[in-house]
Amino acid sequence: MLEIDIARKTYPDRGGRSHVALQGLRLAAWPGEFLCLVGPSGCGKSTLLNLIIGLDRDMDGRVTLDGRVPDKGIGVMFQEPRLMPWLTVLDNVLLVADDPQQARPRAIELLRAMELGDVLHTYPGRLSGGMQRRVALARAFVIEPPLLLMDEPFVSLDAPTADRLRSMLVDLWQRRRSTIVFVTHDLREALALADRVCFLSAAPGRVVLEMPVELPRPRAPNDVAVLELQARLLAQHPDLLAGLVTTEPPNDA
Ligand code: ADP
Ligand code: MG
Repeated sequence: MLEIDIARKTYPDRGGRSHVALQGLRLAAWPGEFLCLVGPSGCGKSTLLNLIIGLDRDMDGRVTLDGRVPDKGIGVMFQEPRLMPWLTVLDNVLLVADDPQQARPRAIELLRAMELGDVLHTYPGRLSGGMQRRVALARAFVIEPPLLLMDEPFVSLDAPTADRLRSMLVDLWQRRRSTIVFVTHDLREALALADRVCFLSAAPGRVVLEMPVELPRPRAPNDVAVLELQARLLAQHPDLLAGLVTTEPPNDA
């Protein structure tokens, strides 16, 4: 189980004063749970993920995974696919494996599941944005992480590509049962993916509302049930959800 208790996370400000990014943030995720964190831009979502991964340890608080400070074995996927242009698709996925030789069959199987079996030995520069994110998704799962952190991984993709990636993600998660913490500022995306959604306040970020999502799967952001749930939430918590993306972004990918 992932347990987070952050009393305070501050960044030094330019004027010598400090910016409080997170305050009084408590959160837990059960093994195998798909948890979405929703909050307005600047509320500290990426800050929180960096603290969970241990990229940043400078905080007044604690993050534990199964009672211990997480060290390695956490899968991550960011907004940019962050692929190495000089490595092939397959080698990009193997890069994160402790034992690339042993991970190779699993990497190939994952890439085939992502419908990338024909481009195993291609360089990322030749792939579309959607394909690059599928490589990043395969890379996130190749280490079979007990915990997978995702920071707005599907933004700025066109809607059909993003939908396809979401359903691939849910497929992988249902087979591997990693705990997923998925950050988004798109409420409908969260409702389409999550077992539970936690809403963060504007800065300094803390959890202000938690809600289980009991809609049957498979779901998509455009499902009537998702739209209805979104409308109900917006009606009940208009202030809380102000500033969130609740409509489809323009198709600019
Ligand atoms: P979100 O991901 O929710 O958009 P971030 O976690 O990126 O928000 O940022 C939260 C706040 O902390 C913002 O005001 C941002 O400017 C500030 N911040 C983030 N990273 C740093 C940093 N390395 N140094 C100083 N301030 C930062
Ligand atoms: Mg962010």
